[in-house]
Amino acid sequence: MSASYALQTRNLVKRFGGFCATNQVTLNVASGARHALIGPNGAGKTTLINLLTGFLEPSAGAVLLKGEEVTHLPQHLRVKRGLARTFQINRLFADMSVLESVTLASCEQLGLGARWWKPVGSHGEAIDAAAAVLQQLRLLDVAHHRTKSLAYGKQRLIEIALALAAKPSVLLLDEPAAGVPTSESRELFETIAQLPREVTILLIEHDMDLVFRFAERITVLVNGAIVTENTPELIAQDPRVKEVYLGEALDG
Ligand code: ADP
Ligand code: MG
Repeated sequence: MSASYALQTRNLVKRFGGFCATNQVTLNVASGARHALIGPNGAGKTTLINLLTGFLEPSAGAVLLKGEEVTHLPQHLRVKRGLARTFQINRLFADMSVLESVTLASCEQLGLGARWWKPVGSHGEAIDAAAAVLQQLRLLDVAHHRTKSLAYGKQRLIEIALALAAKPSVLLLDEPAAGVPTSESRELFETIAQLPREVTILLIEHDMDLVFRFAERITVLVNGAIVTENTPELIAQDPRVKEVYLGEALDG
């Protein structure tokens, strides 16, 4: 039954002019999954995420969230229904403390409509919600630090915290370790991996070590189409996957 799936696509297609960036993609992400989407550069991973969030309109096919069709729903209404993605920390958040930033996002979620003339500290409920998110992401010890003063790995976690403040049931992560030194990326992934199972996670990640440590299910995308989907153990043995990545290793 579709209710056991947090996120699905059916024969999803996206064409840019004559070019097909998403080719008949049927993807089923189970509720509570730790699911990864991998594939070489240009495979169509980001395009697919953009179709899921509603940033892009598909040329054909359907997107379902918790079994309900959302194919033509605007982005903010998908967020309301529990779909979240991360965004880069903007200037405003960079100058605020970690707690203030996430509290502002929690105010939004609680419909408290934070205003600049109202001190963020005047919303106790939002502060509690933000602190709970910071605890989930092991960020309480830096709650009063300015966001921009933190190491890159922690900044990526704050982007995730801002997404979690919306209380999503599905979290989309597009290369969360991008720009993060390898010394920090492992801890970043360990923190993501221990998020509660109420949050389904679909991850795009280039680093295969991180993917294989994190994911329980892997979908391989090549030239816009799904080549295979399986457990990490079986994906690692798949000659087609080896071929795709060997080709890439030789290029790089
Ligand atoms: P990935 O994230 O897997 O590296 P993308 O989804 O970014 O791949 O891109 C897939 C393909 O679609 C690439 O060939 C890219 O050039 C093309 N593409 C992506 N967005 C657009 C666009 N807005 N217009 C035209 N082509 C695009
Ligand atoms: Mg991409």
